Amino acid sequence: MKTPRNNNRRSFLRTAATAATAGLASLSASKARAAEAPESAQSRTNVYGSTAQPRQGRPPQFKTRLRITKLETFLVKPRWLFLKIHTDAGIVGLGEPVLEGRAKTCAMAIEEIARDLIGKDPRNVIHHWQAIYRHAFYRGGPILTSALSGIEQALWDIKGKFLGVPIYELLGGPTRDRVRVYAHVSNSTERLKQQVAEGFTAFKTSPKNLTRSGAVATPAFIEEAAAAFAELRQAAGKEAAIGIDFHGAISAQTAKSLIRALEPFSPMFIEEPVPCQNVDAMAEIARATHLPIATGERIFTKWGFREILEKRAATILQPDLCHCGGIFEARLIAGMAEAHYATMAPHNPLGPISLAAGLQLAASIPNFLCQEQVSLGAGYLRTPFKVEKGYIAIPEGPGLGIELDENQLADKIGHDWRNAETYDENDGSVVDW
Ligand SMILES: [Mg+2]
Repeated sequence: MKTPRNNNRRSFLRTAATAATAGLASLSASKARAAEAPESAQSRTNVYGSTAQPRQGRPPQFKTRLRITKLETFLVKPRWLFLKIHTDAGIVGLGEPVLEGRAKTCAMAIEEIARDLIGKDPRNVIHHWQAIYRHAFYRGGPILTSALSGIEQALWDIKGKFLGVPIYELLGGPTRDRVRVYAHVSNSTERLKQQVAEGFTAFKTSPKNLTRSGAVATPAFIEEAAAAFAELRQAAGKEAAIGIDFHGAISAQTAKSLIRALEPFSPMFIEEPVPCQNVDAMAEIARATHLPIATGERIFTKWGFREILEKRAATILQPDLCHCGGIFEARLIAGMAEAHYATMAPHNPLGPISLAAGLQLAASIPNFLCQEQVSLGAGYLRTPFKVEKGYIAIPEGPGLGIELDENQLADKIGHDWRNAETYDENDGSVVDW
């Protein structure tokens, strides 16, 4: 009988081999066509890629040659999807093109998008972003924008490595030399103390019994949720920053009552007090409290954030760099936020590539508040990140500044993570979580 370790290793090798075969097949076809073509046509073949031909015009070209040869995705435990974009110069770019619970769907999206990227120059990062987003005709959405985000991260990683500089250098940084990060504490003072011991000074929690709030909450729900937050504040002290995430799972009227009950304990922010699509209700809630309202993990691209800012529904934006369109899209959102006197606290419940992308952004913008993280990369990166006095030093390596630890990673290949099913305890109806 095979051990789980062997199965994982086999799965890893199988995934790598399948992706490699597909990529090499495309590359071989491209080379074969190039060999048959005259010089001028050869360069067109390489620029246009192996499987797609433009209906009109041509993409911009560099004088020096660098080509994308292969895109590989890997399901990585606990619920992530890593992307490697290979080039003919041997440079490999890393990205995390994943939507939680839909990793395989995102992998398929990458496979389809790869047809348009293989054979092209990876350095036209913004050009590729525009082409992937707009040539799809049906634009955006969680899956395609997450796939695009991971590709964009990997292209920046390649560009930084090609030029030998961190991505924040290419974006005019650094704007800071260390980045504040926060950790999850889930209403547990024990967990909070553990995170304090690990160096964190900023935290996030959720309302106690969140999924039991109902359409109209009882006084018991409000009092228990406020008391649980008060305990965390007591344990963390007045210098600590503690955000609280309603997950858009509480009705607007309950959100108002709960925010009022939380005000004496000064949360760093109230996250998604209502679903982010309910912009007018969020704006009304924002006007009824002095606490900052935060939102953004389920909002995509600069266009998605426009209404939030215009209606003053939130003053802390939380784009997820694996969902919103990537590093430069988040940079553009940060510029929009700056013009509205808002700050950025990027969402990230994902892996160390996502965190690395967030650090590059934080080092590139003036209006940064705090970066979410759930993994510093131990078991995934050759040099995991370290938190000291609440901050991570900005990486100095080229591109994203990280290297995967392939040996440790081999045991973590493959997963079947699914979103939670939650139902009302009394009548079985669906509730948010
Ligand atoms: Mg959230």
